[in-house]
Amino acid sequence: MSDCADTLRELEPFLDGELADEVRHHVHHHLDSCPDCQQAFEFHLELKEAIRRKCSEEALPESLVSRLEVCLTEDFDGDGVIGNGP
Ligand SMILES: [Zn+2]
Repeated sequence: MSDCADTLRELEPFLDGELADEVRHHVHHHLDSCPDCQQAFEFHLELKEAIRRKCSEEALPESLVSRLEVCLTEDFDGDGVIGNGP
């Protein structure tokens, strides 16, 4: 497998590190020789990175924050109240 359709189909598992060594080698080889797929690969990589960053920046859900506050008696959301009241 060394054409573009196959390579593009394997991009996601490739980025996730889920491919067998042999398949990964083929994808790698194809990317080296195909600017189009290289571009698609970089796009996917950036997309994945952006999603990961967005996820890690996302605030904790309020219900979880208040549960944590109750457990740890720390005012995580800074409103001067531990938890969300009774
Ligand atoms: Zn290609």
